[in-house]
Amino acid sequence: MKILEQLSQEINKCVLCGTCRSVCPTFGVINREPASARGKVALCSAFLNKEIGLSDGFIKQMNECVQCMACMTACPNDVNVPDIILAARAKIAKEKGLPFAKSFILDNILNSERLMPAVMKFASKLQGLLFKGVPEESGLHRRFHLPLIGEKRLVPPLAERFFLEGRKLTEAKGGNGEAEKRRKNLSPIRPFADSPIRIGFFAGCLINYMLPHIGEACLKVLEKAGASVIVPLNQHCCGMPALGMGDVKTAKSLAIKNLEAFEQYELDYITTACATCGDGLKRRFKELLSDEGEDVRKRVESFADKVRDITELLVNELRIQNSEFNRKSKIVNSKSEIVTYHDPCHLRRGQDIADGPREIIEISGAKLKEMRHPCRCCGLGGTFNITNYDFSMAINRSKAEDIKSTGADIVATACPGCMIQIKDGLHHLGINTKVVHVVELLADNIIKQ
Ligand code: SF4
Ligand code: SF4
Repeated sequence: MKILEQLSQEINKCVLCGTCRSVCPTFGVINREPASARGKVALCSAFLNKEIGLSDGFIKQMNECVQCMACMTACPNDVNVPDIILAARAKIAKEKGLPFAKSFILDNILNSERLMPAVMKFASKLQGLLFKGVPEESGLHRRFHLPLIGEKRLVPPLAERFFLEGRKLTEAKGGNGEAEKRRKNLSPIRPFADSPIRIGFFAGCLINYMLPHIGEACLKVLEKAGASVIVPLNQHCCGMPALGMGDVKTAKSLAIKNLEAFEQYELDYITTACATCGDGLKRRFKELLSDEGEDVRKRVESFADKVRDITELLVNELRIQNSEFNRKSKIVNSKSEIVTYHDPCHLRRGQDIADGPREIIEISGAKLKEMRHPCRCCGLGGTFNITNYDFSMAINRSKAEDIKSTGADIVATACPGCMIQIKDGLHHLGINTKVVHVVELLADNIIKQ
C-alpha cells in the first residue's frame, strides 16, 4: 500500500481543471473548494510541500470523502483521488493516532475472531432496551440519547441468529459435518467434491450480523445454479472499514486471516454479495499485502483472481438462464413488478460491473426502470455515515428523490451497505419503496417454485 509521500507523482498529475467538482457528492452538498476532490488533492500537495501541517482542518477535509470514486472516473488525467485521500488518512492515523474508542474497536474487537461475534451477540440482546421498532420499515429508532445515533436514524436491527452461526448449525445437523471439516471450520452446503464448480462464500459483516437472509438467498441461488458452496466459518471482516479510517495495520491483519480461511479449500471461485467487500478482496488485499514478500504476493494474487461479485459469477460464469429462474415472485407480484436499480460505487466504479445486476433483474421476471442517476453515490461511505450522519443523509436525499421519481415499488442493489443507507433515506422522506438485494429477486423465485 503506497504511503502519501509515494503518491506525489499522482498528486502532480492534477492540472486543477475542476472536472471532478461536478461529480463529487461532498462538494455537491457543501459547495466549498476544500470539500471537492480537487480541493483535497491541493491540500495533500500543500502538505507534502510542507506548506501546511496535519491540522484539524486538514483532518476534517480528508475525512469528508465517501470514497465513491466518481472523481477518478471523471478525471481527464486519471488522478486517483480516493487513494490519495486514503493515504492521507493513513498518514494522519500514523502520526496522530486514532481516537481511543476507534483504535480499541479496530485493534481489539474487529480484528478478533472471538470478540467480534461475542460483542455483536451482546448488542443484539441489548438492542430491545436501547431501541424501539419501526414495524412498517423493519428498522429501529433509538429510545433515548445515544452517542453517534441521531434521533431520526433508522437503525437496522442485529439478527437474532447471525449468518455464520446458522451455517455452523447446518453443518452440525447435516451429513457433511465430519470431524475433519469441523476442525477446519468449513461448512459445506452439499458434498463438495460432487460438484464441478466449487465456490467459497464470503459473507461480510453486514450480511453476517444484520442481513443473514441475503446470505441464505445467495446460497440457495448458487445451489440452484449447480454450484457447490463452502462457507469458511473462520472468515473475518474484510478490513475495509479499518482501511477507510487509516488503520492499515488492522486491514492487513484481516486480509491475511481471510486469505488463510479460504486457502484451506480448493476453490474455483470466491464470491460475495457485498460490493465493498468484493472490491476489497479483489483489489485492496493485493495492495495491502504487496510488501509482505514473494510467497504472500503469489498467494494473494491466486486468491484475488478467484474473486467474483455474486452477480458476475451468476451471469458470466454460471450463466444462469431465464428458464431456470424466471417466475413471478412473491415480491415481484403482478401489480407491482417495476424494479429500479442503484449501482453501488464499489461495484460500478470499483469493479466495473453494471450489466450483471440488471440482467438478474430481467431474469427474475421483473421490469427494470432506470432512475435518472443510478450510479450517483448513496452517501454511505463506510464509517462516514456514522461520523457524519447528517452530511451523509444530505448526499442521500437526491438518491431517495431519484428513486421516488421512477414510481418503482422495489429498488434493488448489490450491496448491503447501500441497502441500509437507501432504506434510511427513503424512510426520511416517507417513501415506501421496498429495498432488496438483486439476488433476493431470484431466491424468492426459487422459494415459490
Ligand atoms: S478532474 Fe482530475 S485533473 Fe481535474 S481537478 Fe480533478 S483531480 Fe485534478
Ligand atoms: S471519492 Fe467521491 S467524495 Fe471523495 S473526493 Fe472523490 S468524488 Fe468526492
